[in-house]
Amino acid sequence: MSRKQVFQFLDLPRTMPQRIPVELRTSGDWGELYGKFDKADAQYQAGRCLDCGNPYCSWKCPVHNAIPQWLQLVQENRIEEAAALCHSTNPLPEVCGRVCPQDRLCEGSCTLEEFGAVTIGAVEKYIVDTALAAGWRPDLHDVQPTGKRVAIVGAGPAGLACADRLARAGVHAVVFDRYEQIGGLLQFGIPSFKLDKAVIAKRREVLEGMGVEFRLGVEIGRDVEAAQLLGEFDAVFLGTGAYRYTDGGLPGQDLKGVLPALPFLVQNSRIVGGNDPWGRPIAGWEDTLALPDLSGKRVVVLGGGDTGMDCVRSAVRLGAAKVTCAYRRDEANMPGSAREVANAREEGVRFLFNRQPLSIEAGADDEVIGVTVVETMLGEPDARGRRNAVPVEGSESLLEADVVIIAFGFSPELPEWLSSQGVQSSDNGRILVGGARLPYQTANTKVFAGGDAVRGADLVVTAVAEGRDAAASIVQWLGVEAAPRQIAAA
Ligand code: FAD
Ligand code: SF4
Repeated sequence: MSRKQVFQFLDLPRTMPQRIPVELRTSGDWGELYGKFDKADAQYQAGRCLDCGNPYCSWKCPVHNAIPQWLQLVQENRIEEAAALCHSTNPLPEVCGRVCPQDRLCEGSCTLEEFGAVTIGAVEKYIVDTALAAGWRPDLHDVQPTGKRVAIVGAGPAGLACADRLARAGVHAVVFDRYEQIGGLLQFGIPSFKLDKAVIAKRREVLEGMGVEFRLGVEIGRDVEAAQLLGEFDAVFLGTGAYRYTDGGLPGQDLKGVLPALPFLVQNSRIVGGNDPWGRPIAGWEDTLALPDLSGKRVVVLGGGDTGMDCVRSAVRLGAAKVTCAYRRDEANMPGSAREVANAREEGVRFLFNRQPLSIEAGADDEVIGVTVVETMLGEPDARGRRNAVPVEGSESLLEADVVIIAFGFSPELPEWLSSQGVQSSDNGRILVGGARLPYQTANTKVFAGGDAVRGADLVVTAVAEGRDAAASIVQWLGVEAAPRQIAAA
């Protein structure tokens, strides 16, 4: 092993891979914003790691990646070993390297904070992209087929992570999704400027090579009955996500030109990705599929989370003349990743903080003309420790708009086909798991669940962690002996 240059971080600044120039982004380029490190850059950046002995980065990473260890392997150009180590904790490392809000997770807790955190996400992407391009694949040579079969409902990150771990345990995983492609929100939610869809196609190839089977364009509860699934398979994993949209109950929210965020992003992803724009809509969304022409329009996005950031940046690429994000708290209390806010600003998005929407206003033909907002101050923290936005009396004003996009968040919903099989949910629609049972096992002991359907809308990496750990519970419940090398410690 080479000797570590402990003070490399003093000589070499933190850098990110090059980004697409802003002029291209604002003229409709949907390509992935960040490029890739080359070998020299990746080794320099990996060499900035102090190997501090107390890897807060690993603890803060929801899948507990062995970050200092794979950074060391990168310095030694042992990329295939680094890729195997990445996969030992994370079934979708190249995806997380791209979309995790690293400033809140691994990089946000790097010891080097003051000198610029190690660029962990970009190096993770470098390792896995490089290894996969060179033909490296997970090594399953010691896996013995068990004859067990598990159905996975949902090909999002939770379902894919579960499938990966089941394949490593010799369990045949059959993944169902109502969409015609895998990825869930990775494919049809997160825009391509954050995640190139070729990455998901490559992951599909890897998973199929591991023996995972996909049955796409099949909606459970509509095309296949739940009872049939339960009869045919030894266990079922639910990774069905969170799709009930929070509208905020604003007067005027049904006006022409007011769009819910997720159908807007899903439909746009379909078009940008060359999918049939009229492909199978989500039940209840059939009438929201027509995407308005945003070119030359004034667009106001309500909400300051990651979805809001994706909406403002998509609107820029769709040619909107002016894009404004209105958020009810201040910038420091915004839930969206600071990196995404900075990118949006650079692309010309205007942020109005401390503005709470009161109503959406109509013109003569019932089309939207703007949003009445009131200024706010931050009050006392709520039960979760977040400071409430308190309206300032008499500070109302009209924010003019031709299109308003509502991005207040999503929550899961328990469908009848699951409740009729004994699966239970909390009042807010989250599938109930664990308790006296195995982790991620539902009240129907043959059914397991994880990801947004259990946690509520959250992150890719937390869905991956839950899919991975649910697979460990399924394997235990099936009484299957997995090769210890294949199943990582949680
Ligand atoms: P999903 O990804 O939602 O996948 C669920 C799948 O289940 C879907 O494919 C759906 O079609 C399928 N399904 C549901 N019901 C059925 C059924 N009955 N039959 C068959 N199939 C079914 N997280 C980040 O970490 N970084 C980001 O930058 C980020 N950006 C985001 C941007 C947007 C616009 C949104 C909405 C979310 C974003 N997230 C981000 C959150 C992240 O995408 C989710 O937390 C994650 O995808 C949840 O994974 P999941 O597998 O639980 O569900
Ligand atoms: Fe950081 Fe996400 Fe990778 Fe963990 S999975 S190391 S949080 S980028």
